[in-house]
Amino acid sequence: MIRGMRHALVVAVGAWALAPSAWAATGEAWRWTGTDGTQHYGDRPAADARAPRRLAASAPAPLARLRMERRNDEHLAWVQNPLDGPIEVLLRAEGPPPQAMPALPARATVPARTERLLTRIAAHGARADVALTAIPGHPNARPRDVEYGYPLAGGAPRIGQSWGGGFSHTDAENRYAIDLAAPVGTPVLAARDGVVMQIEDGFEDAGDLDDDAVARANFVRILHDDGSMALYAHLQAEGVEVRPGQRVRRGDRIARSGNSGLSSGPHLHFAVQVNRGLTLASIPFRMFGPGGVLRLALPPDDAQPVPTGAAPAAADPERL
Ligand SMILES: [Zn+2]
Repeated sequence: MIRGMRHALVVAVGAWALAPSAWAATGEAWRWTGTDGTQHYGDRPAADARAPRRLAASAPAPLARLRMERRNDEHLAWVQNPLDGPIEVLLRAEGPPPQAMPALPARATVPARTERLLTRIAAHGARADVALTAIPGHPNARPRDVEYGYPLAGGAPRIGQSWGGGFSHTDAENRYAIDLAAPVGTPVLAARDGVVMQIEDGFEDAGDLDDDAVARANFVRILHDDGSMALYAHLQAEGVEVRPGQRVRRGDRIARSGNSGLSSGPHLHFAVQVNRGLTLASIPFRMFGPGGVLRLALPPDDAQPVPTGAAPAAADPERL
């Protein structure tokens, strides 16, 4: 399961200069051996580092960064999108909204790897707290009906949890996800052409059922040309084999499967997601597996209707 792709950040306008690290953190830690033989630690290895190794991350990298800039009588709120695909953001006030142009809440789409000015907040008022929420994907995405390839190398599909699965496929982000059981290290293949939008692979393969583990899943997010996104999650630590911005074709090897994050056993979590306007939603998809078309359907007792064009409503015989 994977949740929490949205990212919230609270800063106090007027106090922002005191805590720049709140949005400057890279989330990366490295260990390497220096030329003198001693161990060094830092957020990136030195140029002459020997045997550099990225250490397990402690927190997921942010989806967006808020940069407050004081200019005369205003705080300029800039939003940076570090991803290789668009994000939608919302900046709102926690408490009485300060005077701002445009007014809060301010909402915008930020293209890949760009920074844009979201609003100008008057600096003369009382201290105000603002919070930024970010969602991956463009709200105008119009997903096409596409047949996806099977995202794992070899073997007959073993679906551990299908659409609407009661363990963790219950919220909008995960409702139409599938969990494919696979030994750790199984090659993960792109199910559809796209561009690598976001990766995370700094978390250890804990296979944790703790709630805190939700945010510690390694994943690859691939943006398709219709604006939808495929999520490949619970990957092996340091198991991502593509880099952000890389274009991939259906069938290309992109990662190794694992057991990171909130996971009850080694598997790949696969979902197609769309930004439905500051809400990330999974959508039904068709997939061709090694044994033919996968029969995917919501459980009969699920109140959510299956949209037209989805896979046939057959019970899933391979649910573990
Ligand atoms: Zn899952």
